[in-house]
Amino acid sequence: MSHSVRLKTLARRAGSALLFVLCCSSASSAQQKYDLLLKGGHVIDPRNAINAVRDVAIASGKVAAVAGAIDPAEAFKVIDVAGHYVTPGLVDIHVHVYTGTGERASYAGDNSVYPDGFTLRSGVTTVADAGSSGWRSFEDFKQRIIERSRTRVLAFLNIVGQGMRGGKFEQDLADMDAAPAAETARRHKGLIVGIKTAHYSGPEWTPVERAVEAGRLANVPVMVDFGSNRPERPLGELVTSKLRPRDIYTHVYSGLRNEQDESGRLNPSLWEARKRGVIFDVGHGGGSFVWRIAVPAVQAGFLPDSISTDLHTGSMNAGMKDMLNVMSKFLAMGAPIEDVVLRATWNPARQIGHEELGHLSPGAAADLAVLRVERGTFGFLDVYGARLRGTQKLICELTLRDGKVVYDLDGLARPDWNTLPRDYRQTGDARWDTVAPAPASATKRNQ
Ligand SMILES: [Zn+2]
Repeated sequence: MSHSVRLKTLARRAGSALLFVLCCSSASSAQQKYDLLLKGGHVIDPRNAINAVRDVAIASGKVAAVAGAIDPAEAFKVIDVAGHYVTPGLVDIHVHVYTGTGERASYAGDNSVYPDGFTLRSGVTTVADAGSSGWRSFEDFKQRIIERSRTRVLAFLNIVGQGMRGGKFEQDLADMDAAPAAETARRHKGLIVGIKTAHYSGPEWTPVERAVEAGRLANVPVMVDFGSNRPERPLGELVTSKLRPRDIYTHVYSGLRNEQDESGRLNPSLWEARKRGVIFDVGHGGGSFVWRIAVPAVQAGFLPDSISTDLHTGSMNAGMKDMLNVMSKFLAMGAPIEDVVLRATWNPARQIGHEELGHLSPGAAADLAVLRVERGTFGFLDVYGARLRGTQKLICELTLRDGKVVYDLDGLARPDWNTLPRDYRQTGDARWDTVAPAPASATKRNQ
């Protein structure tokens, strides 16, 4: 008896509920080696030097195999992703997601956003909050957001104990205490991935020095938003002597702190710092990405080490929009897609000490993005509303978190409605799916 005849016979015997299960699984047996197979996509995995058409097999939430041709019969569920790029889940190391506290005009409140509404639909599976919380508020942030998000949320801890609560808090040198910050970072090792200093307007080096001290004590990098431009603490000195190798200078294309000289040349100290191992991050945000800085810098070969959004309420609907829009800006400036993907996956994962993320090595968490490059005429805005035209735009088709589909723009993983039984309910299966879990009554009917 042929496979399909056997299926039909079985289905007739068991009725439409069983037929439903069979149709929605890729094969009749539950013994397949893989839960899910992404078939025929163009894999870009810079960590493993893969930039070619490959199948990706997933089992128990992990990447199980990446190979030229994996037999679909070995997988419980197959998704055809031919014509799309398959990348590691994107890692955005500069966001603000400490919301829900009720505090107005504060990044530890209303200026932050809930991550899941912005990340998964953009292929982002991991974010690092950039200093919205400090050691006094981290536990609240953890309970309120980190533990309740489908996105993997990590954090740079603000050197300010109160975190990013605005004006008087962020200028208070007395609340920038390295010891409790480092102690909190050590207690939450892996979750707290670095120390942040930001928004300081005074002439002192104290915030940077305290942040570096906390970073040294906790053995994590420091991320610097260099605040107001002060002649007493020049950029050159920051990046060539105050910061350590692996510390991160964010907002690199803002132009607000002499990143570019008057002739339009990149500040030479940035090149010097890069040789020392200092990291340069985009941190686009609402005020920190300007074409007249970024275009000449990229033309001169100064790509960022990491592409990040600085997502918050002031950037989400302005020039920044989302991670893929920021990545598309680099395509528009002429960067090859593999260079762009590297800076949104493996590079940032490494920078935050999470080398298990940002790649598709067998055994890695199966966080993946399936992306499409749309071709046409597009416009990309900087933070001053200036447009740069481009011909390519990255679109997220599908996002997987720990091997489960969490976003599916065009229903690549789904059956057409008119192929289903007349009384169909929830489609999908817990082996590969977390979207819209079936209500109890439907689960009973369909399993
Ligand atoms: Zn920020």
